[in-house]
Amino acid sequence: MERCLLTTAGHLRGVLYNLGMENKSKKPTPAIKQNLGCHQDPAERRNNFDEVALGFGLEEAVTEAARCLGCKTKPCELACPVNVKIPEFVDLVYKEDIGAAASKIFETSLFPAICGRVCPQETYCEAACVLKDKFGPVSIGRLERFTADYARRNGLITPPPCAPDTGFKVACVGSGPTSLAVAAELRKLGHAVTVFEALHEFGGVLSYGIPTFRLPREVVRFEVATLKKMGVRFLKNVMIGKSITIEELKKDFDIIYIGSGAGLPSPMNTPGEDLVGVYSSNEFLTRINLMEAYKFPVTDTPYYIGKKVVVVGGGNTAMDSARCAQRLGPGSVTLLYRRTRAEMPARGEEVENAMEEGINFEFLTAPVELEGDEKGRLKRVKCVRMALGEPDASGRRKPVPQKGSEFYVEADSLVVAIGASPNPVIQQTTPGLNTNKWGGIIVEEATARTSLDGIYAGGDVVRGGATVLLAMKDGKNAALAIHRKLTGN
Ligand code: FAD
Repeated sequence: MERCLLTTAGHLRGVLYNLGMENKSKKPTPAIKQNLGCHQDPAERRNNFDEVALGFGLEEAVTEAARCLGCKTKPCELACPVNVKIPEFVDLVYKEDIGAAASKIFETSLFPAICGRVCPQETYCEAACVLKDKFGPVSIGRLERFTADYARRNGLITPPPCAPDTGFKVACVGSGPTSLAVAAELRKLGHAVTVFEALHEFGGVLSYGIPTFRLPREVVRFEVATLKKMGVRFLKNVMIGKSITIEELKKDFDIIYIGSGAGLPSPMNTPGEDLVGVYSSNEFLTRINLMEAYKFPVTDTPYYIGKKVVVVGGGNTAMDSARCAQRLGPGSVTLLYRRTRAEMPARGEEVENAMEEGINFEFLTAPVELEGDEKGRLKRVKCVRMALGEPDASGRRKPVPQKGSEFYVEADSLVVAIGASPNPVIQQTTPGLNTNKWGGIIVEEATARTSLDGIYAGGDVVRGGATVLLAMKDGKNAALAIHRKLTGN
């Protein structure tokens, strides 16, 4: 209901603008409640892989932008990891100068159509908005997405100019957001950049992990195509460390940036994890999203989920796994999480979407054993109830198993989504590359330099599972350090 009213308000404002009855130098509507935009109906969307959030139209965007108070202290901008000039771009949206708004965002953030969709704004910019407590924050993420989409669809985005060739050559390992950021920044500075990707599609988690109903593939492909137009070379199906080692690559390139991500699944170490029907989230999401198993038999990749699916975990990966499973049409999808909703690391919006789509949440619950039938297929999951104890190293209260609380959940398939660590291939095949105990590459924080001369690293392979924006921020910072190293400038 609220959404409908707000859409009407946006429409009315649009009509007033067109009649010349709205004064654009005034922003009259900060007290209107936050517009969260329209979404596909839950009953419908649980049957398709189309985007859930439908995005603002121009009128809604202008109305939402009118809520921004343009605070002089810019708390939202300061809270953004890459300091997007939020009040300035929002003001340009309000003035309906969307091309200029897009250019303003591009000054500091390279991929706003991606960040506008997946960045956890609720913990960054929107958390700092002064309207938050009374009326709800300005929908900064949705405005960012609107600006980028509008600019893309209306041909307002042109590849940024690149400086004359410097003659220096840089290789990026992996094509996730951190490498894309490095490639964009260094190419603008005139360096030749080649991106090596082990998979057959570029984009890293943006392509193989995050489902299309949260991030349509054309958005990621557009960003890669823009980089290609700028002259970045993209090579797929090349696993660095197997096809070519870092040492061999070093002979052809002045600098190597490792952005190989954290795609190695963490097992639960629970008896029965080798039963048929048990997937790591990495395998499950890659099958569904990258290999498009949901279109089988039109595509070649099959999947098996049966009638009852269980997903274990509480992060974005668990949420994406559960929502993908739901769209494959089983009888039920149950998510087991060992803490409460308040401690869930997944984005709040995605948890709400998952609940609306009919996923059963079992909080304070952990699997202790997976039981199979005589053919080695998963049959049921033995679970235990937890209670929250003292805070652990992560600062969150530690889940403690409750004696005698064991119970069973029937399951034909189960997806383990409890975390991931760096792919070890490069670390194992590159002598002298210092790593920490969980396999992450150790870098000097200010420069992203590794223990080896001319080799830099960033994103999830350094941080462990983090966020798209932090991966991009690492890439931007590393690009500056690399440029200084190459040119002494
Ligand atoms: P990646 O995106 O992992 O890219 C690494 C790339 O390197 C991959 O394409 C991989 O194939 C390639 N590669 C690996 N090894 C080699 C090699 N040896 N040779 C060549 N190529 C190699 N963050 C958010 O901010 N919001 C979200 O909503 C969100 N949802 C997520 C959902 C899922 C399912 C997952 C898994 C993560 C999510 N994240 C989210 C986290 C975010 O996607 C990551 O933090 C980010 O993608 C890390 O970027 P990266 O470039 O470091 O690594």
